[in-house]
Amino acid sequence: MGTELLRMLPSVDEVLRDARLVKELEGQPRSVVVQAVRDVLERERRRLLAGLRPDDENKGKEFILEQTVRETLCAVRQSARPNLRPVINATGVVLHTNMGRALLSERARQAINDVASSYSNIELDLESGRRGSRYAHLEGLLKTLTGAEAVLVVNNNAAAVLLALSTLARGREVIVSRGQLVEIGGSFRVPDVMAQSGARLVEVGTTNKTHPDDYRKAISPDTALLLHVHTSNYRIIGFTRETTISELVEIGRSASLPVMSDLGSGFLFDLSGYGLPSEPTVREVVEAGPDVVTFSGDKLLGGPQAGIILGRKDLIERMKKNPLTRAVRIDKMTVAALEATLREYLDQEWAIREIPTLRMLTESRDILQQRGSRLAELLRAAAGEKAEICLEEGFSAVGGGAMPTAELPSVLVAIRPVQESAGELQTKLRRGDPAVMGRVQEDKLLLDVRTIADAELQPLVEAVRGALCEGKGIK
Ligand SMILES: *Cc1c(COP(=O)(O)O)cnc(C)c1O
Repeated sequence: MGTELLRMLPSVDEVLRDARLVKELEGQPRSVVVQAVRDVLERERRRLLAGLRPDDENKGKEFILEQTVRETLCAVRQSARPNLRPVINATGVVLHTNMGRALLSERARQAINDVASSYSNIELDLESGRRGSRYAHLEGLLKTLTGAEAVLVVNNNAAAVLLALSTLARGREVIVSRGQLVEIGGSFRVPDVMAQSGARLVEVGTTNKTHPDDYRKAISPDTALLLHVHTSNYRIIGFTRETTISELVEIGRSASLPVMSDLGSGFLFDLSGYGLPSEPTVREVVEAGPDVVTFSGDKLLGGPQAGIILGRKDLIERMKKNPLTRAVRIDKMTVAALEATLREYLDQEWAIREIPTLRMLTESRDILQQRGSRLAELLRAAAGEKAEICLEEGFSAVGGGAMPTAELPSVLVAIRPVQESAGELQTKLRRGDPAVMGRVQEDKLLLDVRTIADAELQPLVEAVRGALCEGKGIK
């Protein structure tokens, strides 16, 4: 019976000539389409031989052709979908490392587009016609915004720390407090980076207390650097004592040793007026006098992935000459996006309005309420009887290993599905298109409106509608 049925299968050419397929897949490479048709037909053939489609015989050749075309369209669309694609972040974690950290301002995105679509003066001095430096595009702005004497920008902050240690302390000792030997998301651990740089770690003090004298006593002829690491992703509270950067600078001066501060996040201005914890700004840290300061471009700064190094001119010059600098250099798109982001900072109110990270962190209650009500209303209409929707109060997090204790009051839309668990609904949404990430709490799926853009509301509602309609069970 199976072989009888096989005659009803169309040929590859028949499928390829089908008008529906031709029209829908106009922009797709032919080889991809041909391969998809072959795969679909092969799958059909096996199913027929295995007797898995007993009814198909009665449905006729036209039916099988149509089915093959439909499956081919699906297969091609599936394979053409990029592996890296947008996700709707409804977790309320503003700097979510697994979802790409900072979103860029419109001007930063435009700058990337401009520099990617045409030749540029990335390393060309247009005034003299001679070779220029890619860092020159960022130097003036960073100096103005932070008060630094000299700057260098590398691929990320981990690279910035590695380069600084390798340049200043290779084969020698670096003194760090035991309370600051942090790990930042999986692979960046201060002791490991230290080992990689060729510097030797000298731990001083205890987890909760490190006094200036602990550093003084550890200084030897082999000491190259005193390092302060901002414990940006956790807090030790209670019986604690941290030696401040100012104190370290004093110790460094009297021992003629450079002091470095790995700031991690790096805020360019104080947002405590908006309910965020008060953290020292980069300018304040620079003013305290360390010889080198490093921080990330895509954490609180809200720019592209980058590691910004500020410091004394002679030390920065030495870093520029380190061969490692070439290995961790930033590309032109990073320079473009970072320059555009830094320009937004020339005016504080402007920066808060234009840089998505700052806007989300400071979003007003009114706006969050409005967005929440609108989302709840749209979801109620879409869900019908399939889920209960209500508004809740809750908290967003800064994320990206920054301000771990900050709780930003926010508005959450809770979806309580009737026929399935909240976990099952989240799984379908995660696998959907666009993918949606929320927070599952007991029997509810929580969507925090702080990190959802207005333009994402409609696609989000459609994704939820689709997931609820798929009904129970995960494909
Ligand atoms: C995040 C962080 C780093 C690593 O920065 P990346 O830009 O992610 O490479 C290093 N040090 C501290 C203190 C950090 O918070």
